[in-house]
Amino acid sequence: VRRAVVGSLLPLAACGAAPEAARAPEPALVQRARDLQERALRDGRAYELLSGLLAAAPSRLSGSPGADAAVAWGLATMRELGLRNVRAEEVMVPKWVRGQRELCSVLSPRSVELSICALGGSVATSPAGLTAEVLEVRSLEELRTIGDAAQGRIVFVNRPMPRAFRRTFQAYGETAAIRTNGASEAAAVGAVAVLVRSLTTSIDDLPHTGAMLYRDGFRRIPAAAISTQGAETLSAMLREGPVRLHLWLDCQDHGEVPSANVVGELVGSELPDEIVLLGAHLDAWDLGHGAHDDGAGCAHVLEAMRLLQAIGHRPRRTIRGVLFMNEENGLRGALGYAERHRAALEAGSHVAAIETDAGGFAPEAFTCSLRGAELEALRGLFVPLSELGMGTLVEGGAGGADIAVLAPYGTALFGLMVASHRYFDYHHTAADRLEAVNERELALGAAALAYAASVLADR
Ligand SMILES: [Zn+2]
Repeated sequence: VRRAVVGSLLPLAACGAAPEAARAPEPALVQRARDLQERALRDGRAYELLSGLLAAAPSRLSGSPGADAAVAWGLATMRELGLRNVRAEEVMVPKWVRGQRELCSVLSPRSVELSICALGGSVATSPAGLTAEVLEVRSLEELRTIGDAAQGRIVFVNRPMPRAFRRTFQAYGETAAIRTNGASEAAAVGAVAVLVRSLTTSIDDLPHTGAMLYRDGFRRIPAAAISTQGAETLSAMLREGPVRLHLWLDCQDHGEVPSANVVGELVGSELPDEIVLLGAHLDAWDLGHGAHDDGAGCAHVLEAMRLLQAIGHRPRRTIRGVLFMNEENGLRGALGYAERHRAALEAGSHVAAIETDAGGFAPEAFTCSLRGAELEALRGLFVPLSELGMGTLVEGGAGGADIAVLAPYGTALFGLMVASHRYFDYHHTAADRLEAVNERELALGAAALAYAASVLADR
C-alpha cells in the first residue's frame, strides 16, 4: 500500500522507484476501467439522470425558480444514489431576467428581421426601443481606433470565431472578449448599443447568449448577440450602404438572491479528510435547457459516483461531488465554496479536482495542471483509460472555471475534455436540449470520470 503525503499527489517515483509511465498498467486498474466502461454502456444511468434534471428544471439560470428546482433535484438525486453528507451550501447569486421581447429590425435600406438575443447582464433599451445607424467593425482592436465614427451608432462587432483550431474551446477563448467586453469598448467610443456576432463556426440562425460585463466608469449600453446568418446578412447590407435598425430589449436586473451549491460524497476508507472534488455546474443559460452546458457535466458527476458504488469500489480518499451554482454569470458558487472551505483548503485537504463542463460528447482527454515529473508520474495510471479509447492525460489548463478557484491552494486541477467539434453548434442557444446529447457518448464520459476520480483518490 502506498503511503500518500498529505495534501500531495507526489508519488513513490519521486523517492527513486521506476517512473510509473514506464511500467505496465496494474491489472487491477485495467479491470476497473473495463468494468466501469461496461457498466456505463450496458445499464448506465447518465442519460436518465440528465433527462431527469432537464425535466425538473429545464430553465435554470441563477436566481430563477428553475435554479431552485435544480438545487432540490440535485439534493434528492444525490440521496437516491446513496451519497453521504448530502447538503446544500448557500451562496448569493445575481438574478438577471431576459424579459419578453428581443427584436432587431432593419428599417432601411429595406425591412429585415434579424435573430438576436440579449447578452446576460445587459441593460434594456428604453421601452420604445432604440433606433440608430450601424457601424461594423471586425475586432475590438479596430473599434479602439475608430475615433468619432461610432458616436450615436449601434456598433456591430463582426468577428468570426476562428475555424482552424482543432479544439473549438481554443477558438472560443480567442473570441469571447467581443462578448464579454464589447459593450464597454463600444460605449467608450460613444456607441448607443452593441451587437456581437455569435460565438460559433456554424452559419445558422441561432443567437448565442453568454455573460458580459460592464466596466466601471463607462456608460451601460444594451448588448445583444446576433446569429451568424444574421451577421452575414447585416454585413452584406452594410457593403451596399448605410443601415438603420431598431433594437428592443426588455431584460431586467433584480439584484442578488440566495441559492446554493449541491454537495455529496463517497467517504474515503483510509483518508476521509482528503478530498478529490468532482465539479460541474447546475445553472444554465435560459434560451435552451443546458443539456450539454452543463447538464451533461452534472450527469457525469452523479453517474461517476454511482458507477463506483455499482462496481463495489470504495476510494481511499473522499470523492466529493459538487454541483456548482452560477458558473455562467458570476462564478459565485465557486467563490462561495472556496470561502466556506478556506480552512480545509489551506490545510491542503483538496488533493485534486476534476471539472466537467465541456459537453456530453465522447471523452478524449483529461487536462492536468501538473507539470514535469508530477505529470509524468500520473501517466501510467491513465493508460488503462486511453487503451479503452476513453481519454489520455494531457498537460495544461486549470480544468474549468469553477475549480480554478482552488489553484491557490495547491490542488491538482483536471478537466474532462470531450470531442468539441459540435459543442459550439449548441452552446448557450435554444438548441442545447436533450436531443443534442447522445446516450452512449454521455455514458463514456461518466465512466472516464469515475475511473480518473478513483485513481486520484486511491494513490
Ligand atoms: Zn458551462
